[in-house]
Amino acid sequence: MKELLEENRRLLGERDLLRRRLAEVEQNFLRTVQESQQEILAMNDALAQANSQLQELDRMKDAFLSMVTHELRTPLTVISGVTEMLETGIYGELSAEQAEHIRQIATQATRLRQLVNDLLDLSKMEAGMMKLRREMLDPRSIVEAAIEQLTTVAAQSSVLIRNLIRHDLPEVYCDGQRIEQVLTNLITNAIKFTSFGGQVTVTAEIMAPPDADKVRFCVADTGQGIPPEAMTRIFDKFFQVQSSTETRTKGTGLGLAIVKHIAELHGGDVSVESQLGKGSRFYFTLPTWKET
Ligand code: ADP
Repeated sequence: MKELLEENRRLLGERDLLRRRLAEVEQNFLRTVQESQQEILAMNDALAQANSQLQELDRMKDAFLSMVTHELRTPLTVISGVTEMLETGIYGELSAEQAEHIRQIATQATRLRQLVNDLLDLSKMEAGMMKLRREMLDPRSIVEAAIEQLTTVAAQSSVLIRNLIRHDLPEVYCDGQRIEQVLTNLITNAIKFTSFGGQVTVTAEIMAPPDADKVRFCVADTGQGIPPEAMTRIFDKFFQVQSSTETRTKGTGLGLAIVKHIAELHGGDVSVESQLGKGSRFYFTLPTWKET
């Protein structure tokens, strides 16, 4: 009996000790949790502050870009207009050298105007301000219109452009001008990165279910292709594949970013497949239905 009482007292003592330890552990745990919570709150505050600073910087950058591009348009229009008049010989006959210089001014002014237009388009799209004028259009005719504008450029590079779009495809619901811009950007690239004697082919097909209400366009070339490491960044703004050839400098890296934005505005998407030295295939999709 005495031993039992003794044992009971010892056990009670141990229980009290354990309770005290448990209370201590609990307190320590609560203190650590509180400290962590405070740290997390402080980090959250710092992140929110950094985030709003970044947003403000982004907004300022967009406003600056938009202002600069608008300001560039007017002088460029004047330069192009005056150059055109000089080219006609209205102010007197031009020597061969003068005519060549005037031609260079005209070419560079056109390039600069294109750059300004691309920058304006992109900043509009990024700000969600680009409005589409959508209607039901025949895929083959849109492609034909884009190709028509590029026949001279293609001929200069001895690249053959083929419109292989079937006549029986359903109409697509899109802004014709914007999709022409998409096709022009893709076909221009295809010509630019394809050597003499190459081919650029435009095709389109109805997609397999569950996307059977979409048409997928493809611009394929037999050009230099894109290195695998560049594939994920190819649609990024200002991205250009590093290359030692002169094509590196001929462009701005905005064309594909614009293509992606326009396709996505239509509820479609873009993708690319490529093999170095063999060629590239750029795809974009458009819906065949009108949203109600
Ligand atoms: P840009 O053509 O003005 O440089 P893009 O945004 O249209 O800008 O294209 C970005 C880059 O993607 C190009 O500089 C080029 O390196 C690569 N690229 C685009 N299209 C092709 C193509 N068809 N074949 C090979 N490379 C291409």
